[in-house]
Amino acid sequence: MTQTKSIRAKCLDCSNTSDGVTGCQETECSLYLLRFGKRPSGCRPLKAIKEYCNWCTNDMKDERLECPVINCPLHSYRFGRKIIPVVECSAQSVPPINNDLLVVGT
Ligand code: SF4
Ligand code: SF4
Repeated sequence: MTQTKSIRAKCLDCSNTSDGVTGCQETECSLYLLRFGKRPSGCRPLKAIKEYCNWCTNDMKDERLECPVINCPLHSYRFGRKIIPVVECSAQSVPPINNDLLVVGT
């Protein structure tokens, strides 16, 4: 999900309906100007998300780091940048070695 779509989804979570988001009165909320899922000039979605997550975690960086709410639309962006999930390696995810392609010595 893009940054602006994540913000829109978060606002829909917060206000339940599209009309609720439109009528939001929380002008102090860092997501306020971005709540329609569009980016007005001068607005920085990642900065707004980071501020929101700071507010959500009471400015506790460790809580933001370990935020367990993985379904939150802002989760991937909570540090103010995109977080790429770590892919666990397992024996099944590693393709078998094809010995025919091994080059031994030259
Ligand atoms: S701008 Fe803030 S208060 Fe308003 S709907 Fe979005 S998250 Fe909720
Ligand atoms: S990602 Fe976590 S810290 Fe950020 S708004 Fe969602 S629940 Fe709060």
